[in-house]
Amino acid sequence: MTDRFYLWTVGCQMNQADSEKLATGFLRTGMRAVDRPERADIVVVNTCSVRQHAEDRAYSKLGRLKQLKQERPSLKIAVMGCMVGIKTDDLQKRFPYVDVFARPQQFGPIMELAKGPGEDLGGEFWPSVFAVPDGPTAFVPVVHGCNKFCTYCIVPYRRGRERSRPMDEVIREVAYLAANGVAEVTLLGQTVEAYGHDLEDKPDIGDLMRELSAIEQIQRIRFLTSYPKDMTHRILEAVAALPKVMECFSLPVQAGSDAVLESMRRGYTKAEYLEKLAEVRQLMPSAGITTDVIVGYPGETEADFIETCELVQQVRFDKVHIAAYSPRPGTIAWRKLDDDVSASEKADRLHRLEAIENRISLELNETYLGTIQPVLVEGVRGDQPYGRTRTGKLVHLDAPARPGQTVDVRIDHAGPYALRGAPVDALALV
Ligand code: SF4
Repeated sequence: MTDRFYLWTVGCQMNQADSEKLATGFLRTGMRAVDRPERADIVVVNTCSVRQHAEDRAYSKLGRLKQLKQERPSLKIAVMGCMVGIKTDDLQKRFPYVDVFARPQQFGPIMELAKGPGEDLGGEFWPSVFAVPDGPTAFVPVVHGCNKFCTYCIVPYRRGRERSRPMDEVIREVAYLAANGVAEVTLLGQTVEAYGHDLEDKPDIGDLMRELSAIEQIQRIRFLTSYPKDMTHRILEAVAALPKVMECFSLPVQAGSDAVLESMRRGYTKAEYLEKLAEVRQLMPSAGITTDVIVGYPGETEADFIETCELVQQVRFDKVHIAAYSPRPGTIAWRKLDDDVSASEKADRLHRLEAIENRISLELNETYLGTIQPVLVEGVRGDQPYGRTRTGKLVHLDAPARPGQTVDVRIDHAGPYALRGAPVDALALV
């Protein structure tokens, strides 16, 4: 009997969305979720390969599961996600106690492991299965895969080429989520503005946002991750014009040096990236803008790194997600470039950039002090509700509020990572 499942997920929002979908598939067959692998009949490890650190976490999880399988051979173990490539021989040799390896969104073999051959749920992505929401916010993948092949990135090899979901299917999913209490959806894609290029009428993400804005219960629409070259003026105008679409951008720059950007094959120069940002800020002056940066990429000199620091200081991003480069087997950089920046140098650059980013984040957060921000309450941690501003700032509330409610909050404390305040209107309190 395979009745109880335990799902462990690491990695990006796309992986989280995949896990939620798989959980919904399990629930549909009458299975139930448990909170520990020791209590499960099947354990699914949903992996990420984007950084070595994420892989290491999955390896350590699998090490612990090996022991569990020895104690209880009937336990079924599945590994899913970006660690699983087309060939699984190496993984099978390394983890012979794993029953099934499945690529991202390859739900069928895992369902079969759990339940035996069953109903056909519609092939890749399971279009007929909409994840059950567990709060007022939900992730909705709209375009899968990536065509860009940045040299350091494993995603195109593991998630394949860009494939957009038909617009009517996304609309049906968001309407379903709205009918089940969701107030905010985040549209997901590795390069979300690539949405629609491959669909018959070639809609863009702005067209999709326009349709989704018409769903009454949906209060907020977010989108990530942006890719500068795909972000057209038409899309930016749609974001600026649609009140339900949040003026909040996740726009990875990765490096501030043109030499490094070219080596990464990012497809833009620093000047082109800055032009795109200027376009965003011209249309939406108060937009929240976060970015991703890799330090210690092969060949990155101290001078290149200083250019990245200068760019971060010039742009003043709301948040910079910084990672030290780690070669990902199978990528272009792994094949062709020497990982020639030492580990200690990478760590040093990471900490130096973090210090700059923390200072800027704090300064930007302090500009919110005394302002009143509409905050959609996303949940409650301990006794304290939390939510986000339109620009994506995390806000802790000093008074009770119900998840799903949008409350006006006066900001009276700012730290580098979050804001804090109290709802202005006592009537809005629960
Ligand atoms: S745009 Fe580049 S970094 Fe982003 S997913 Fe595609 S290949 Fe990876």
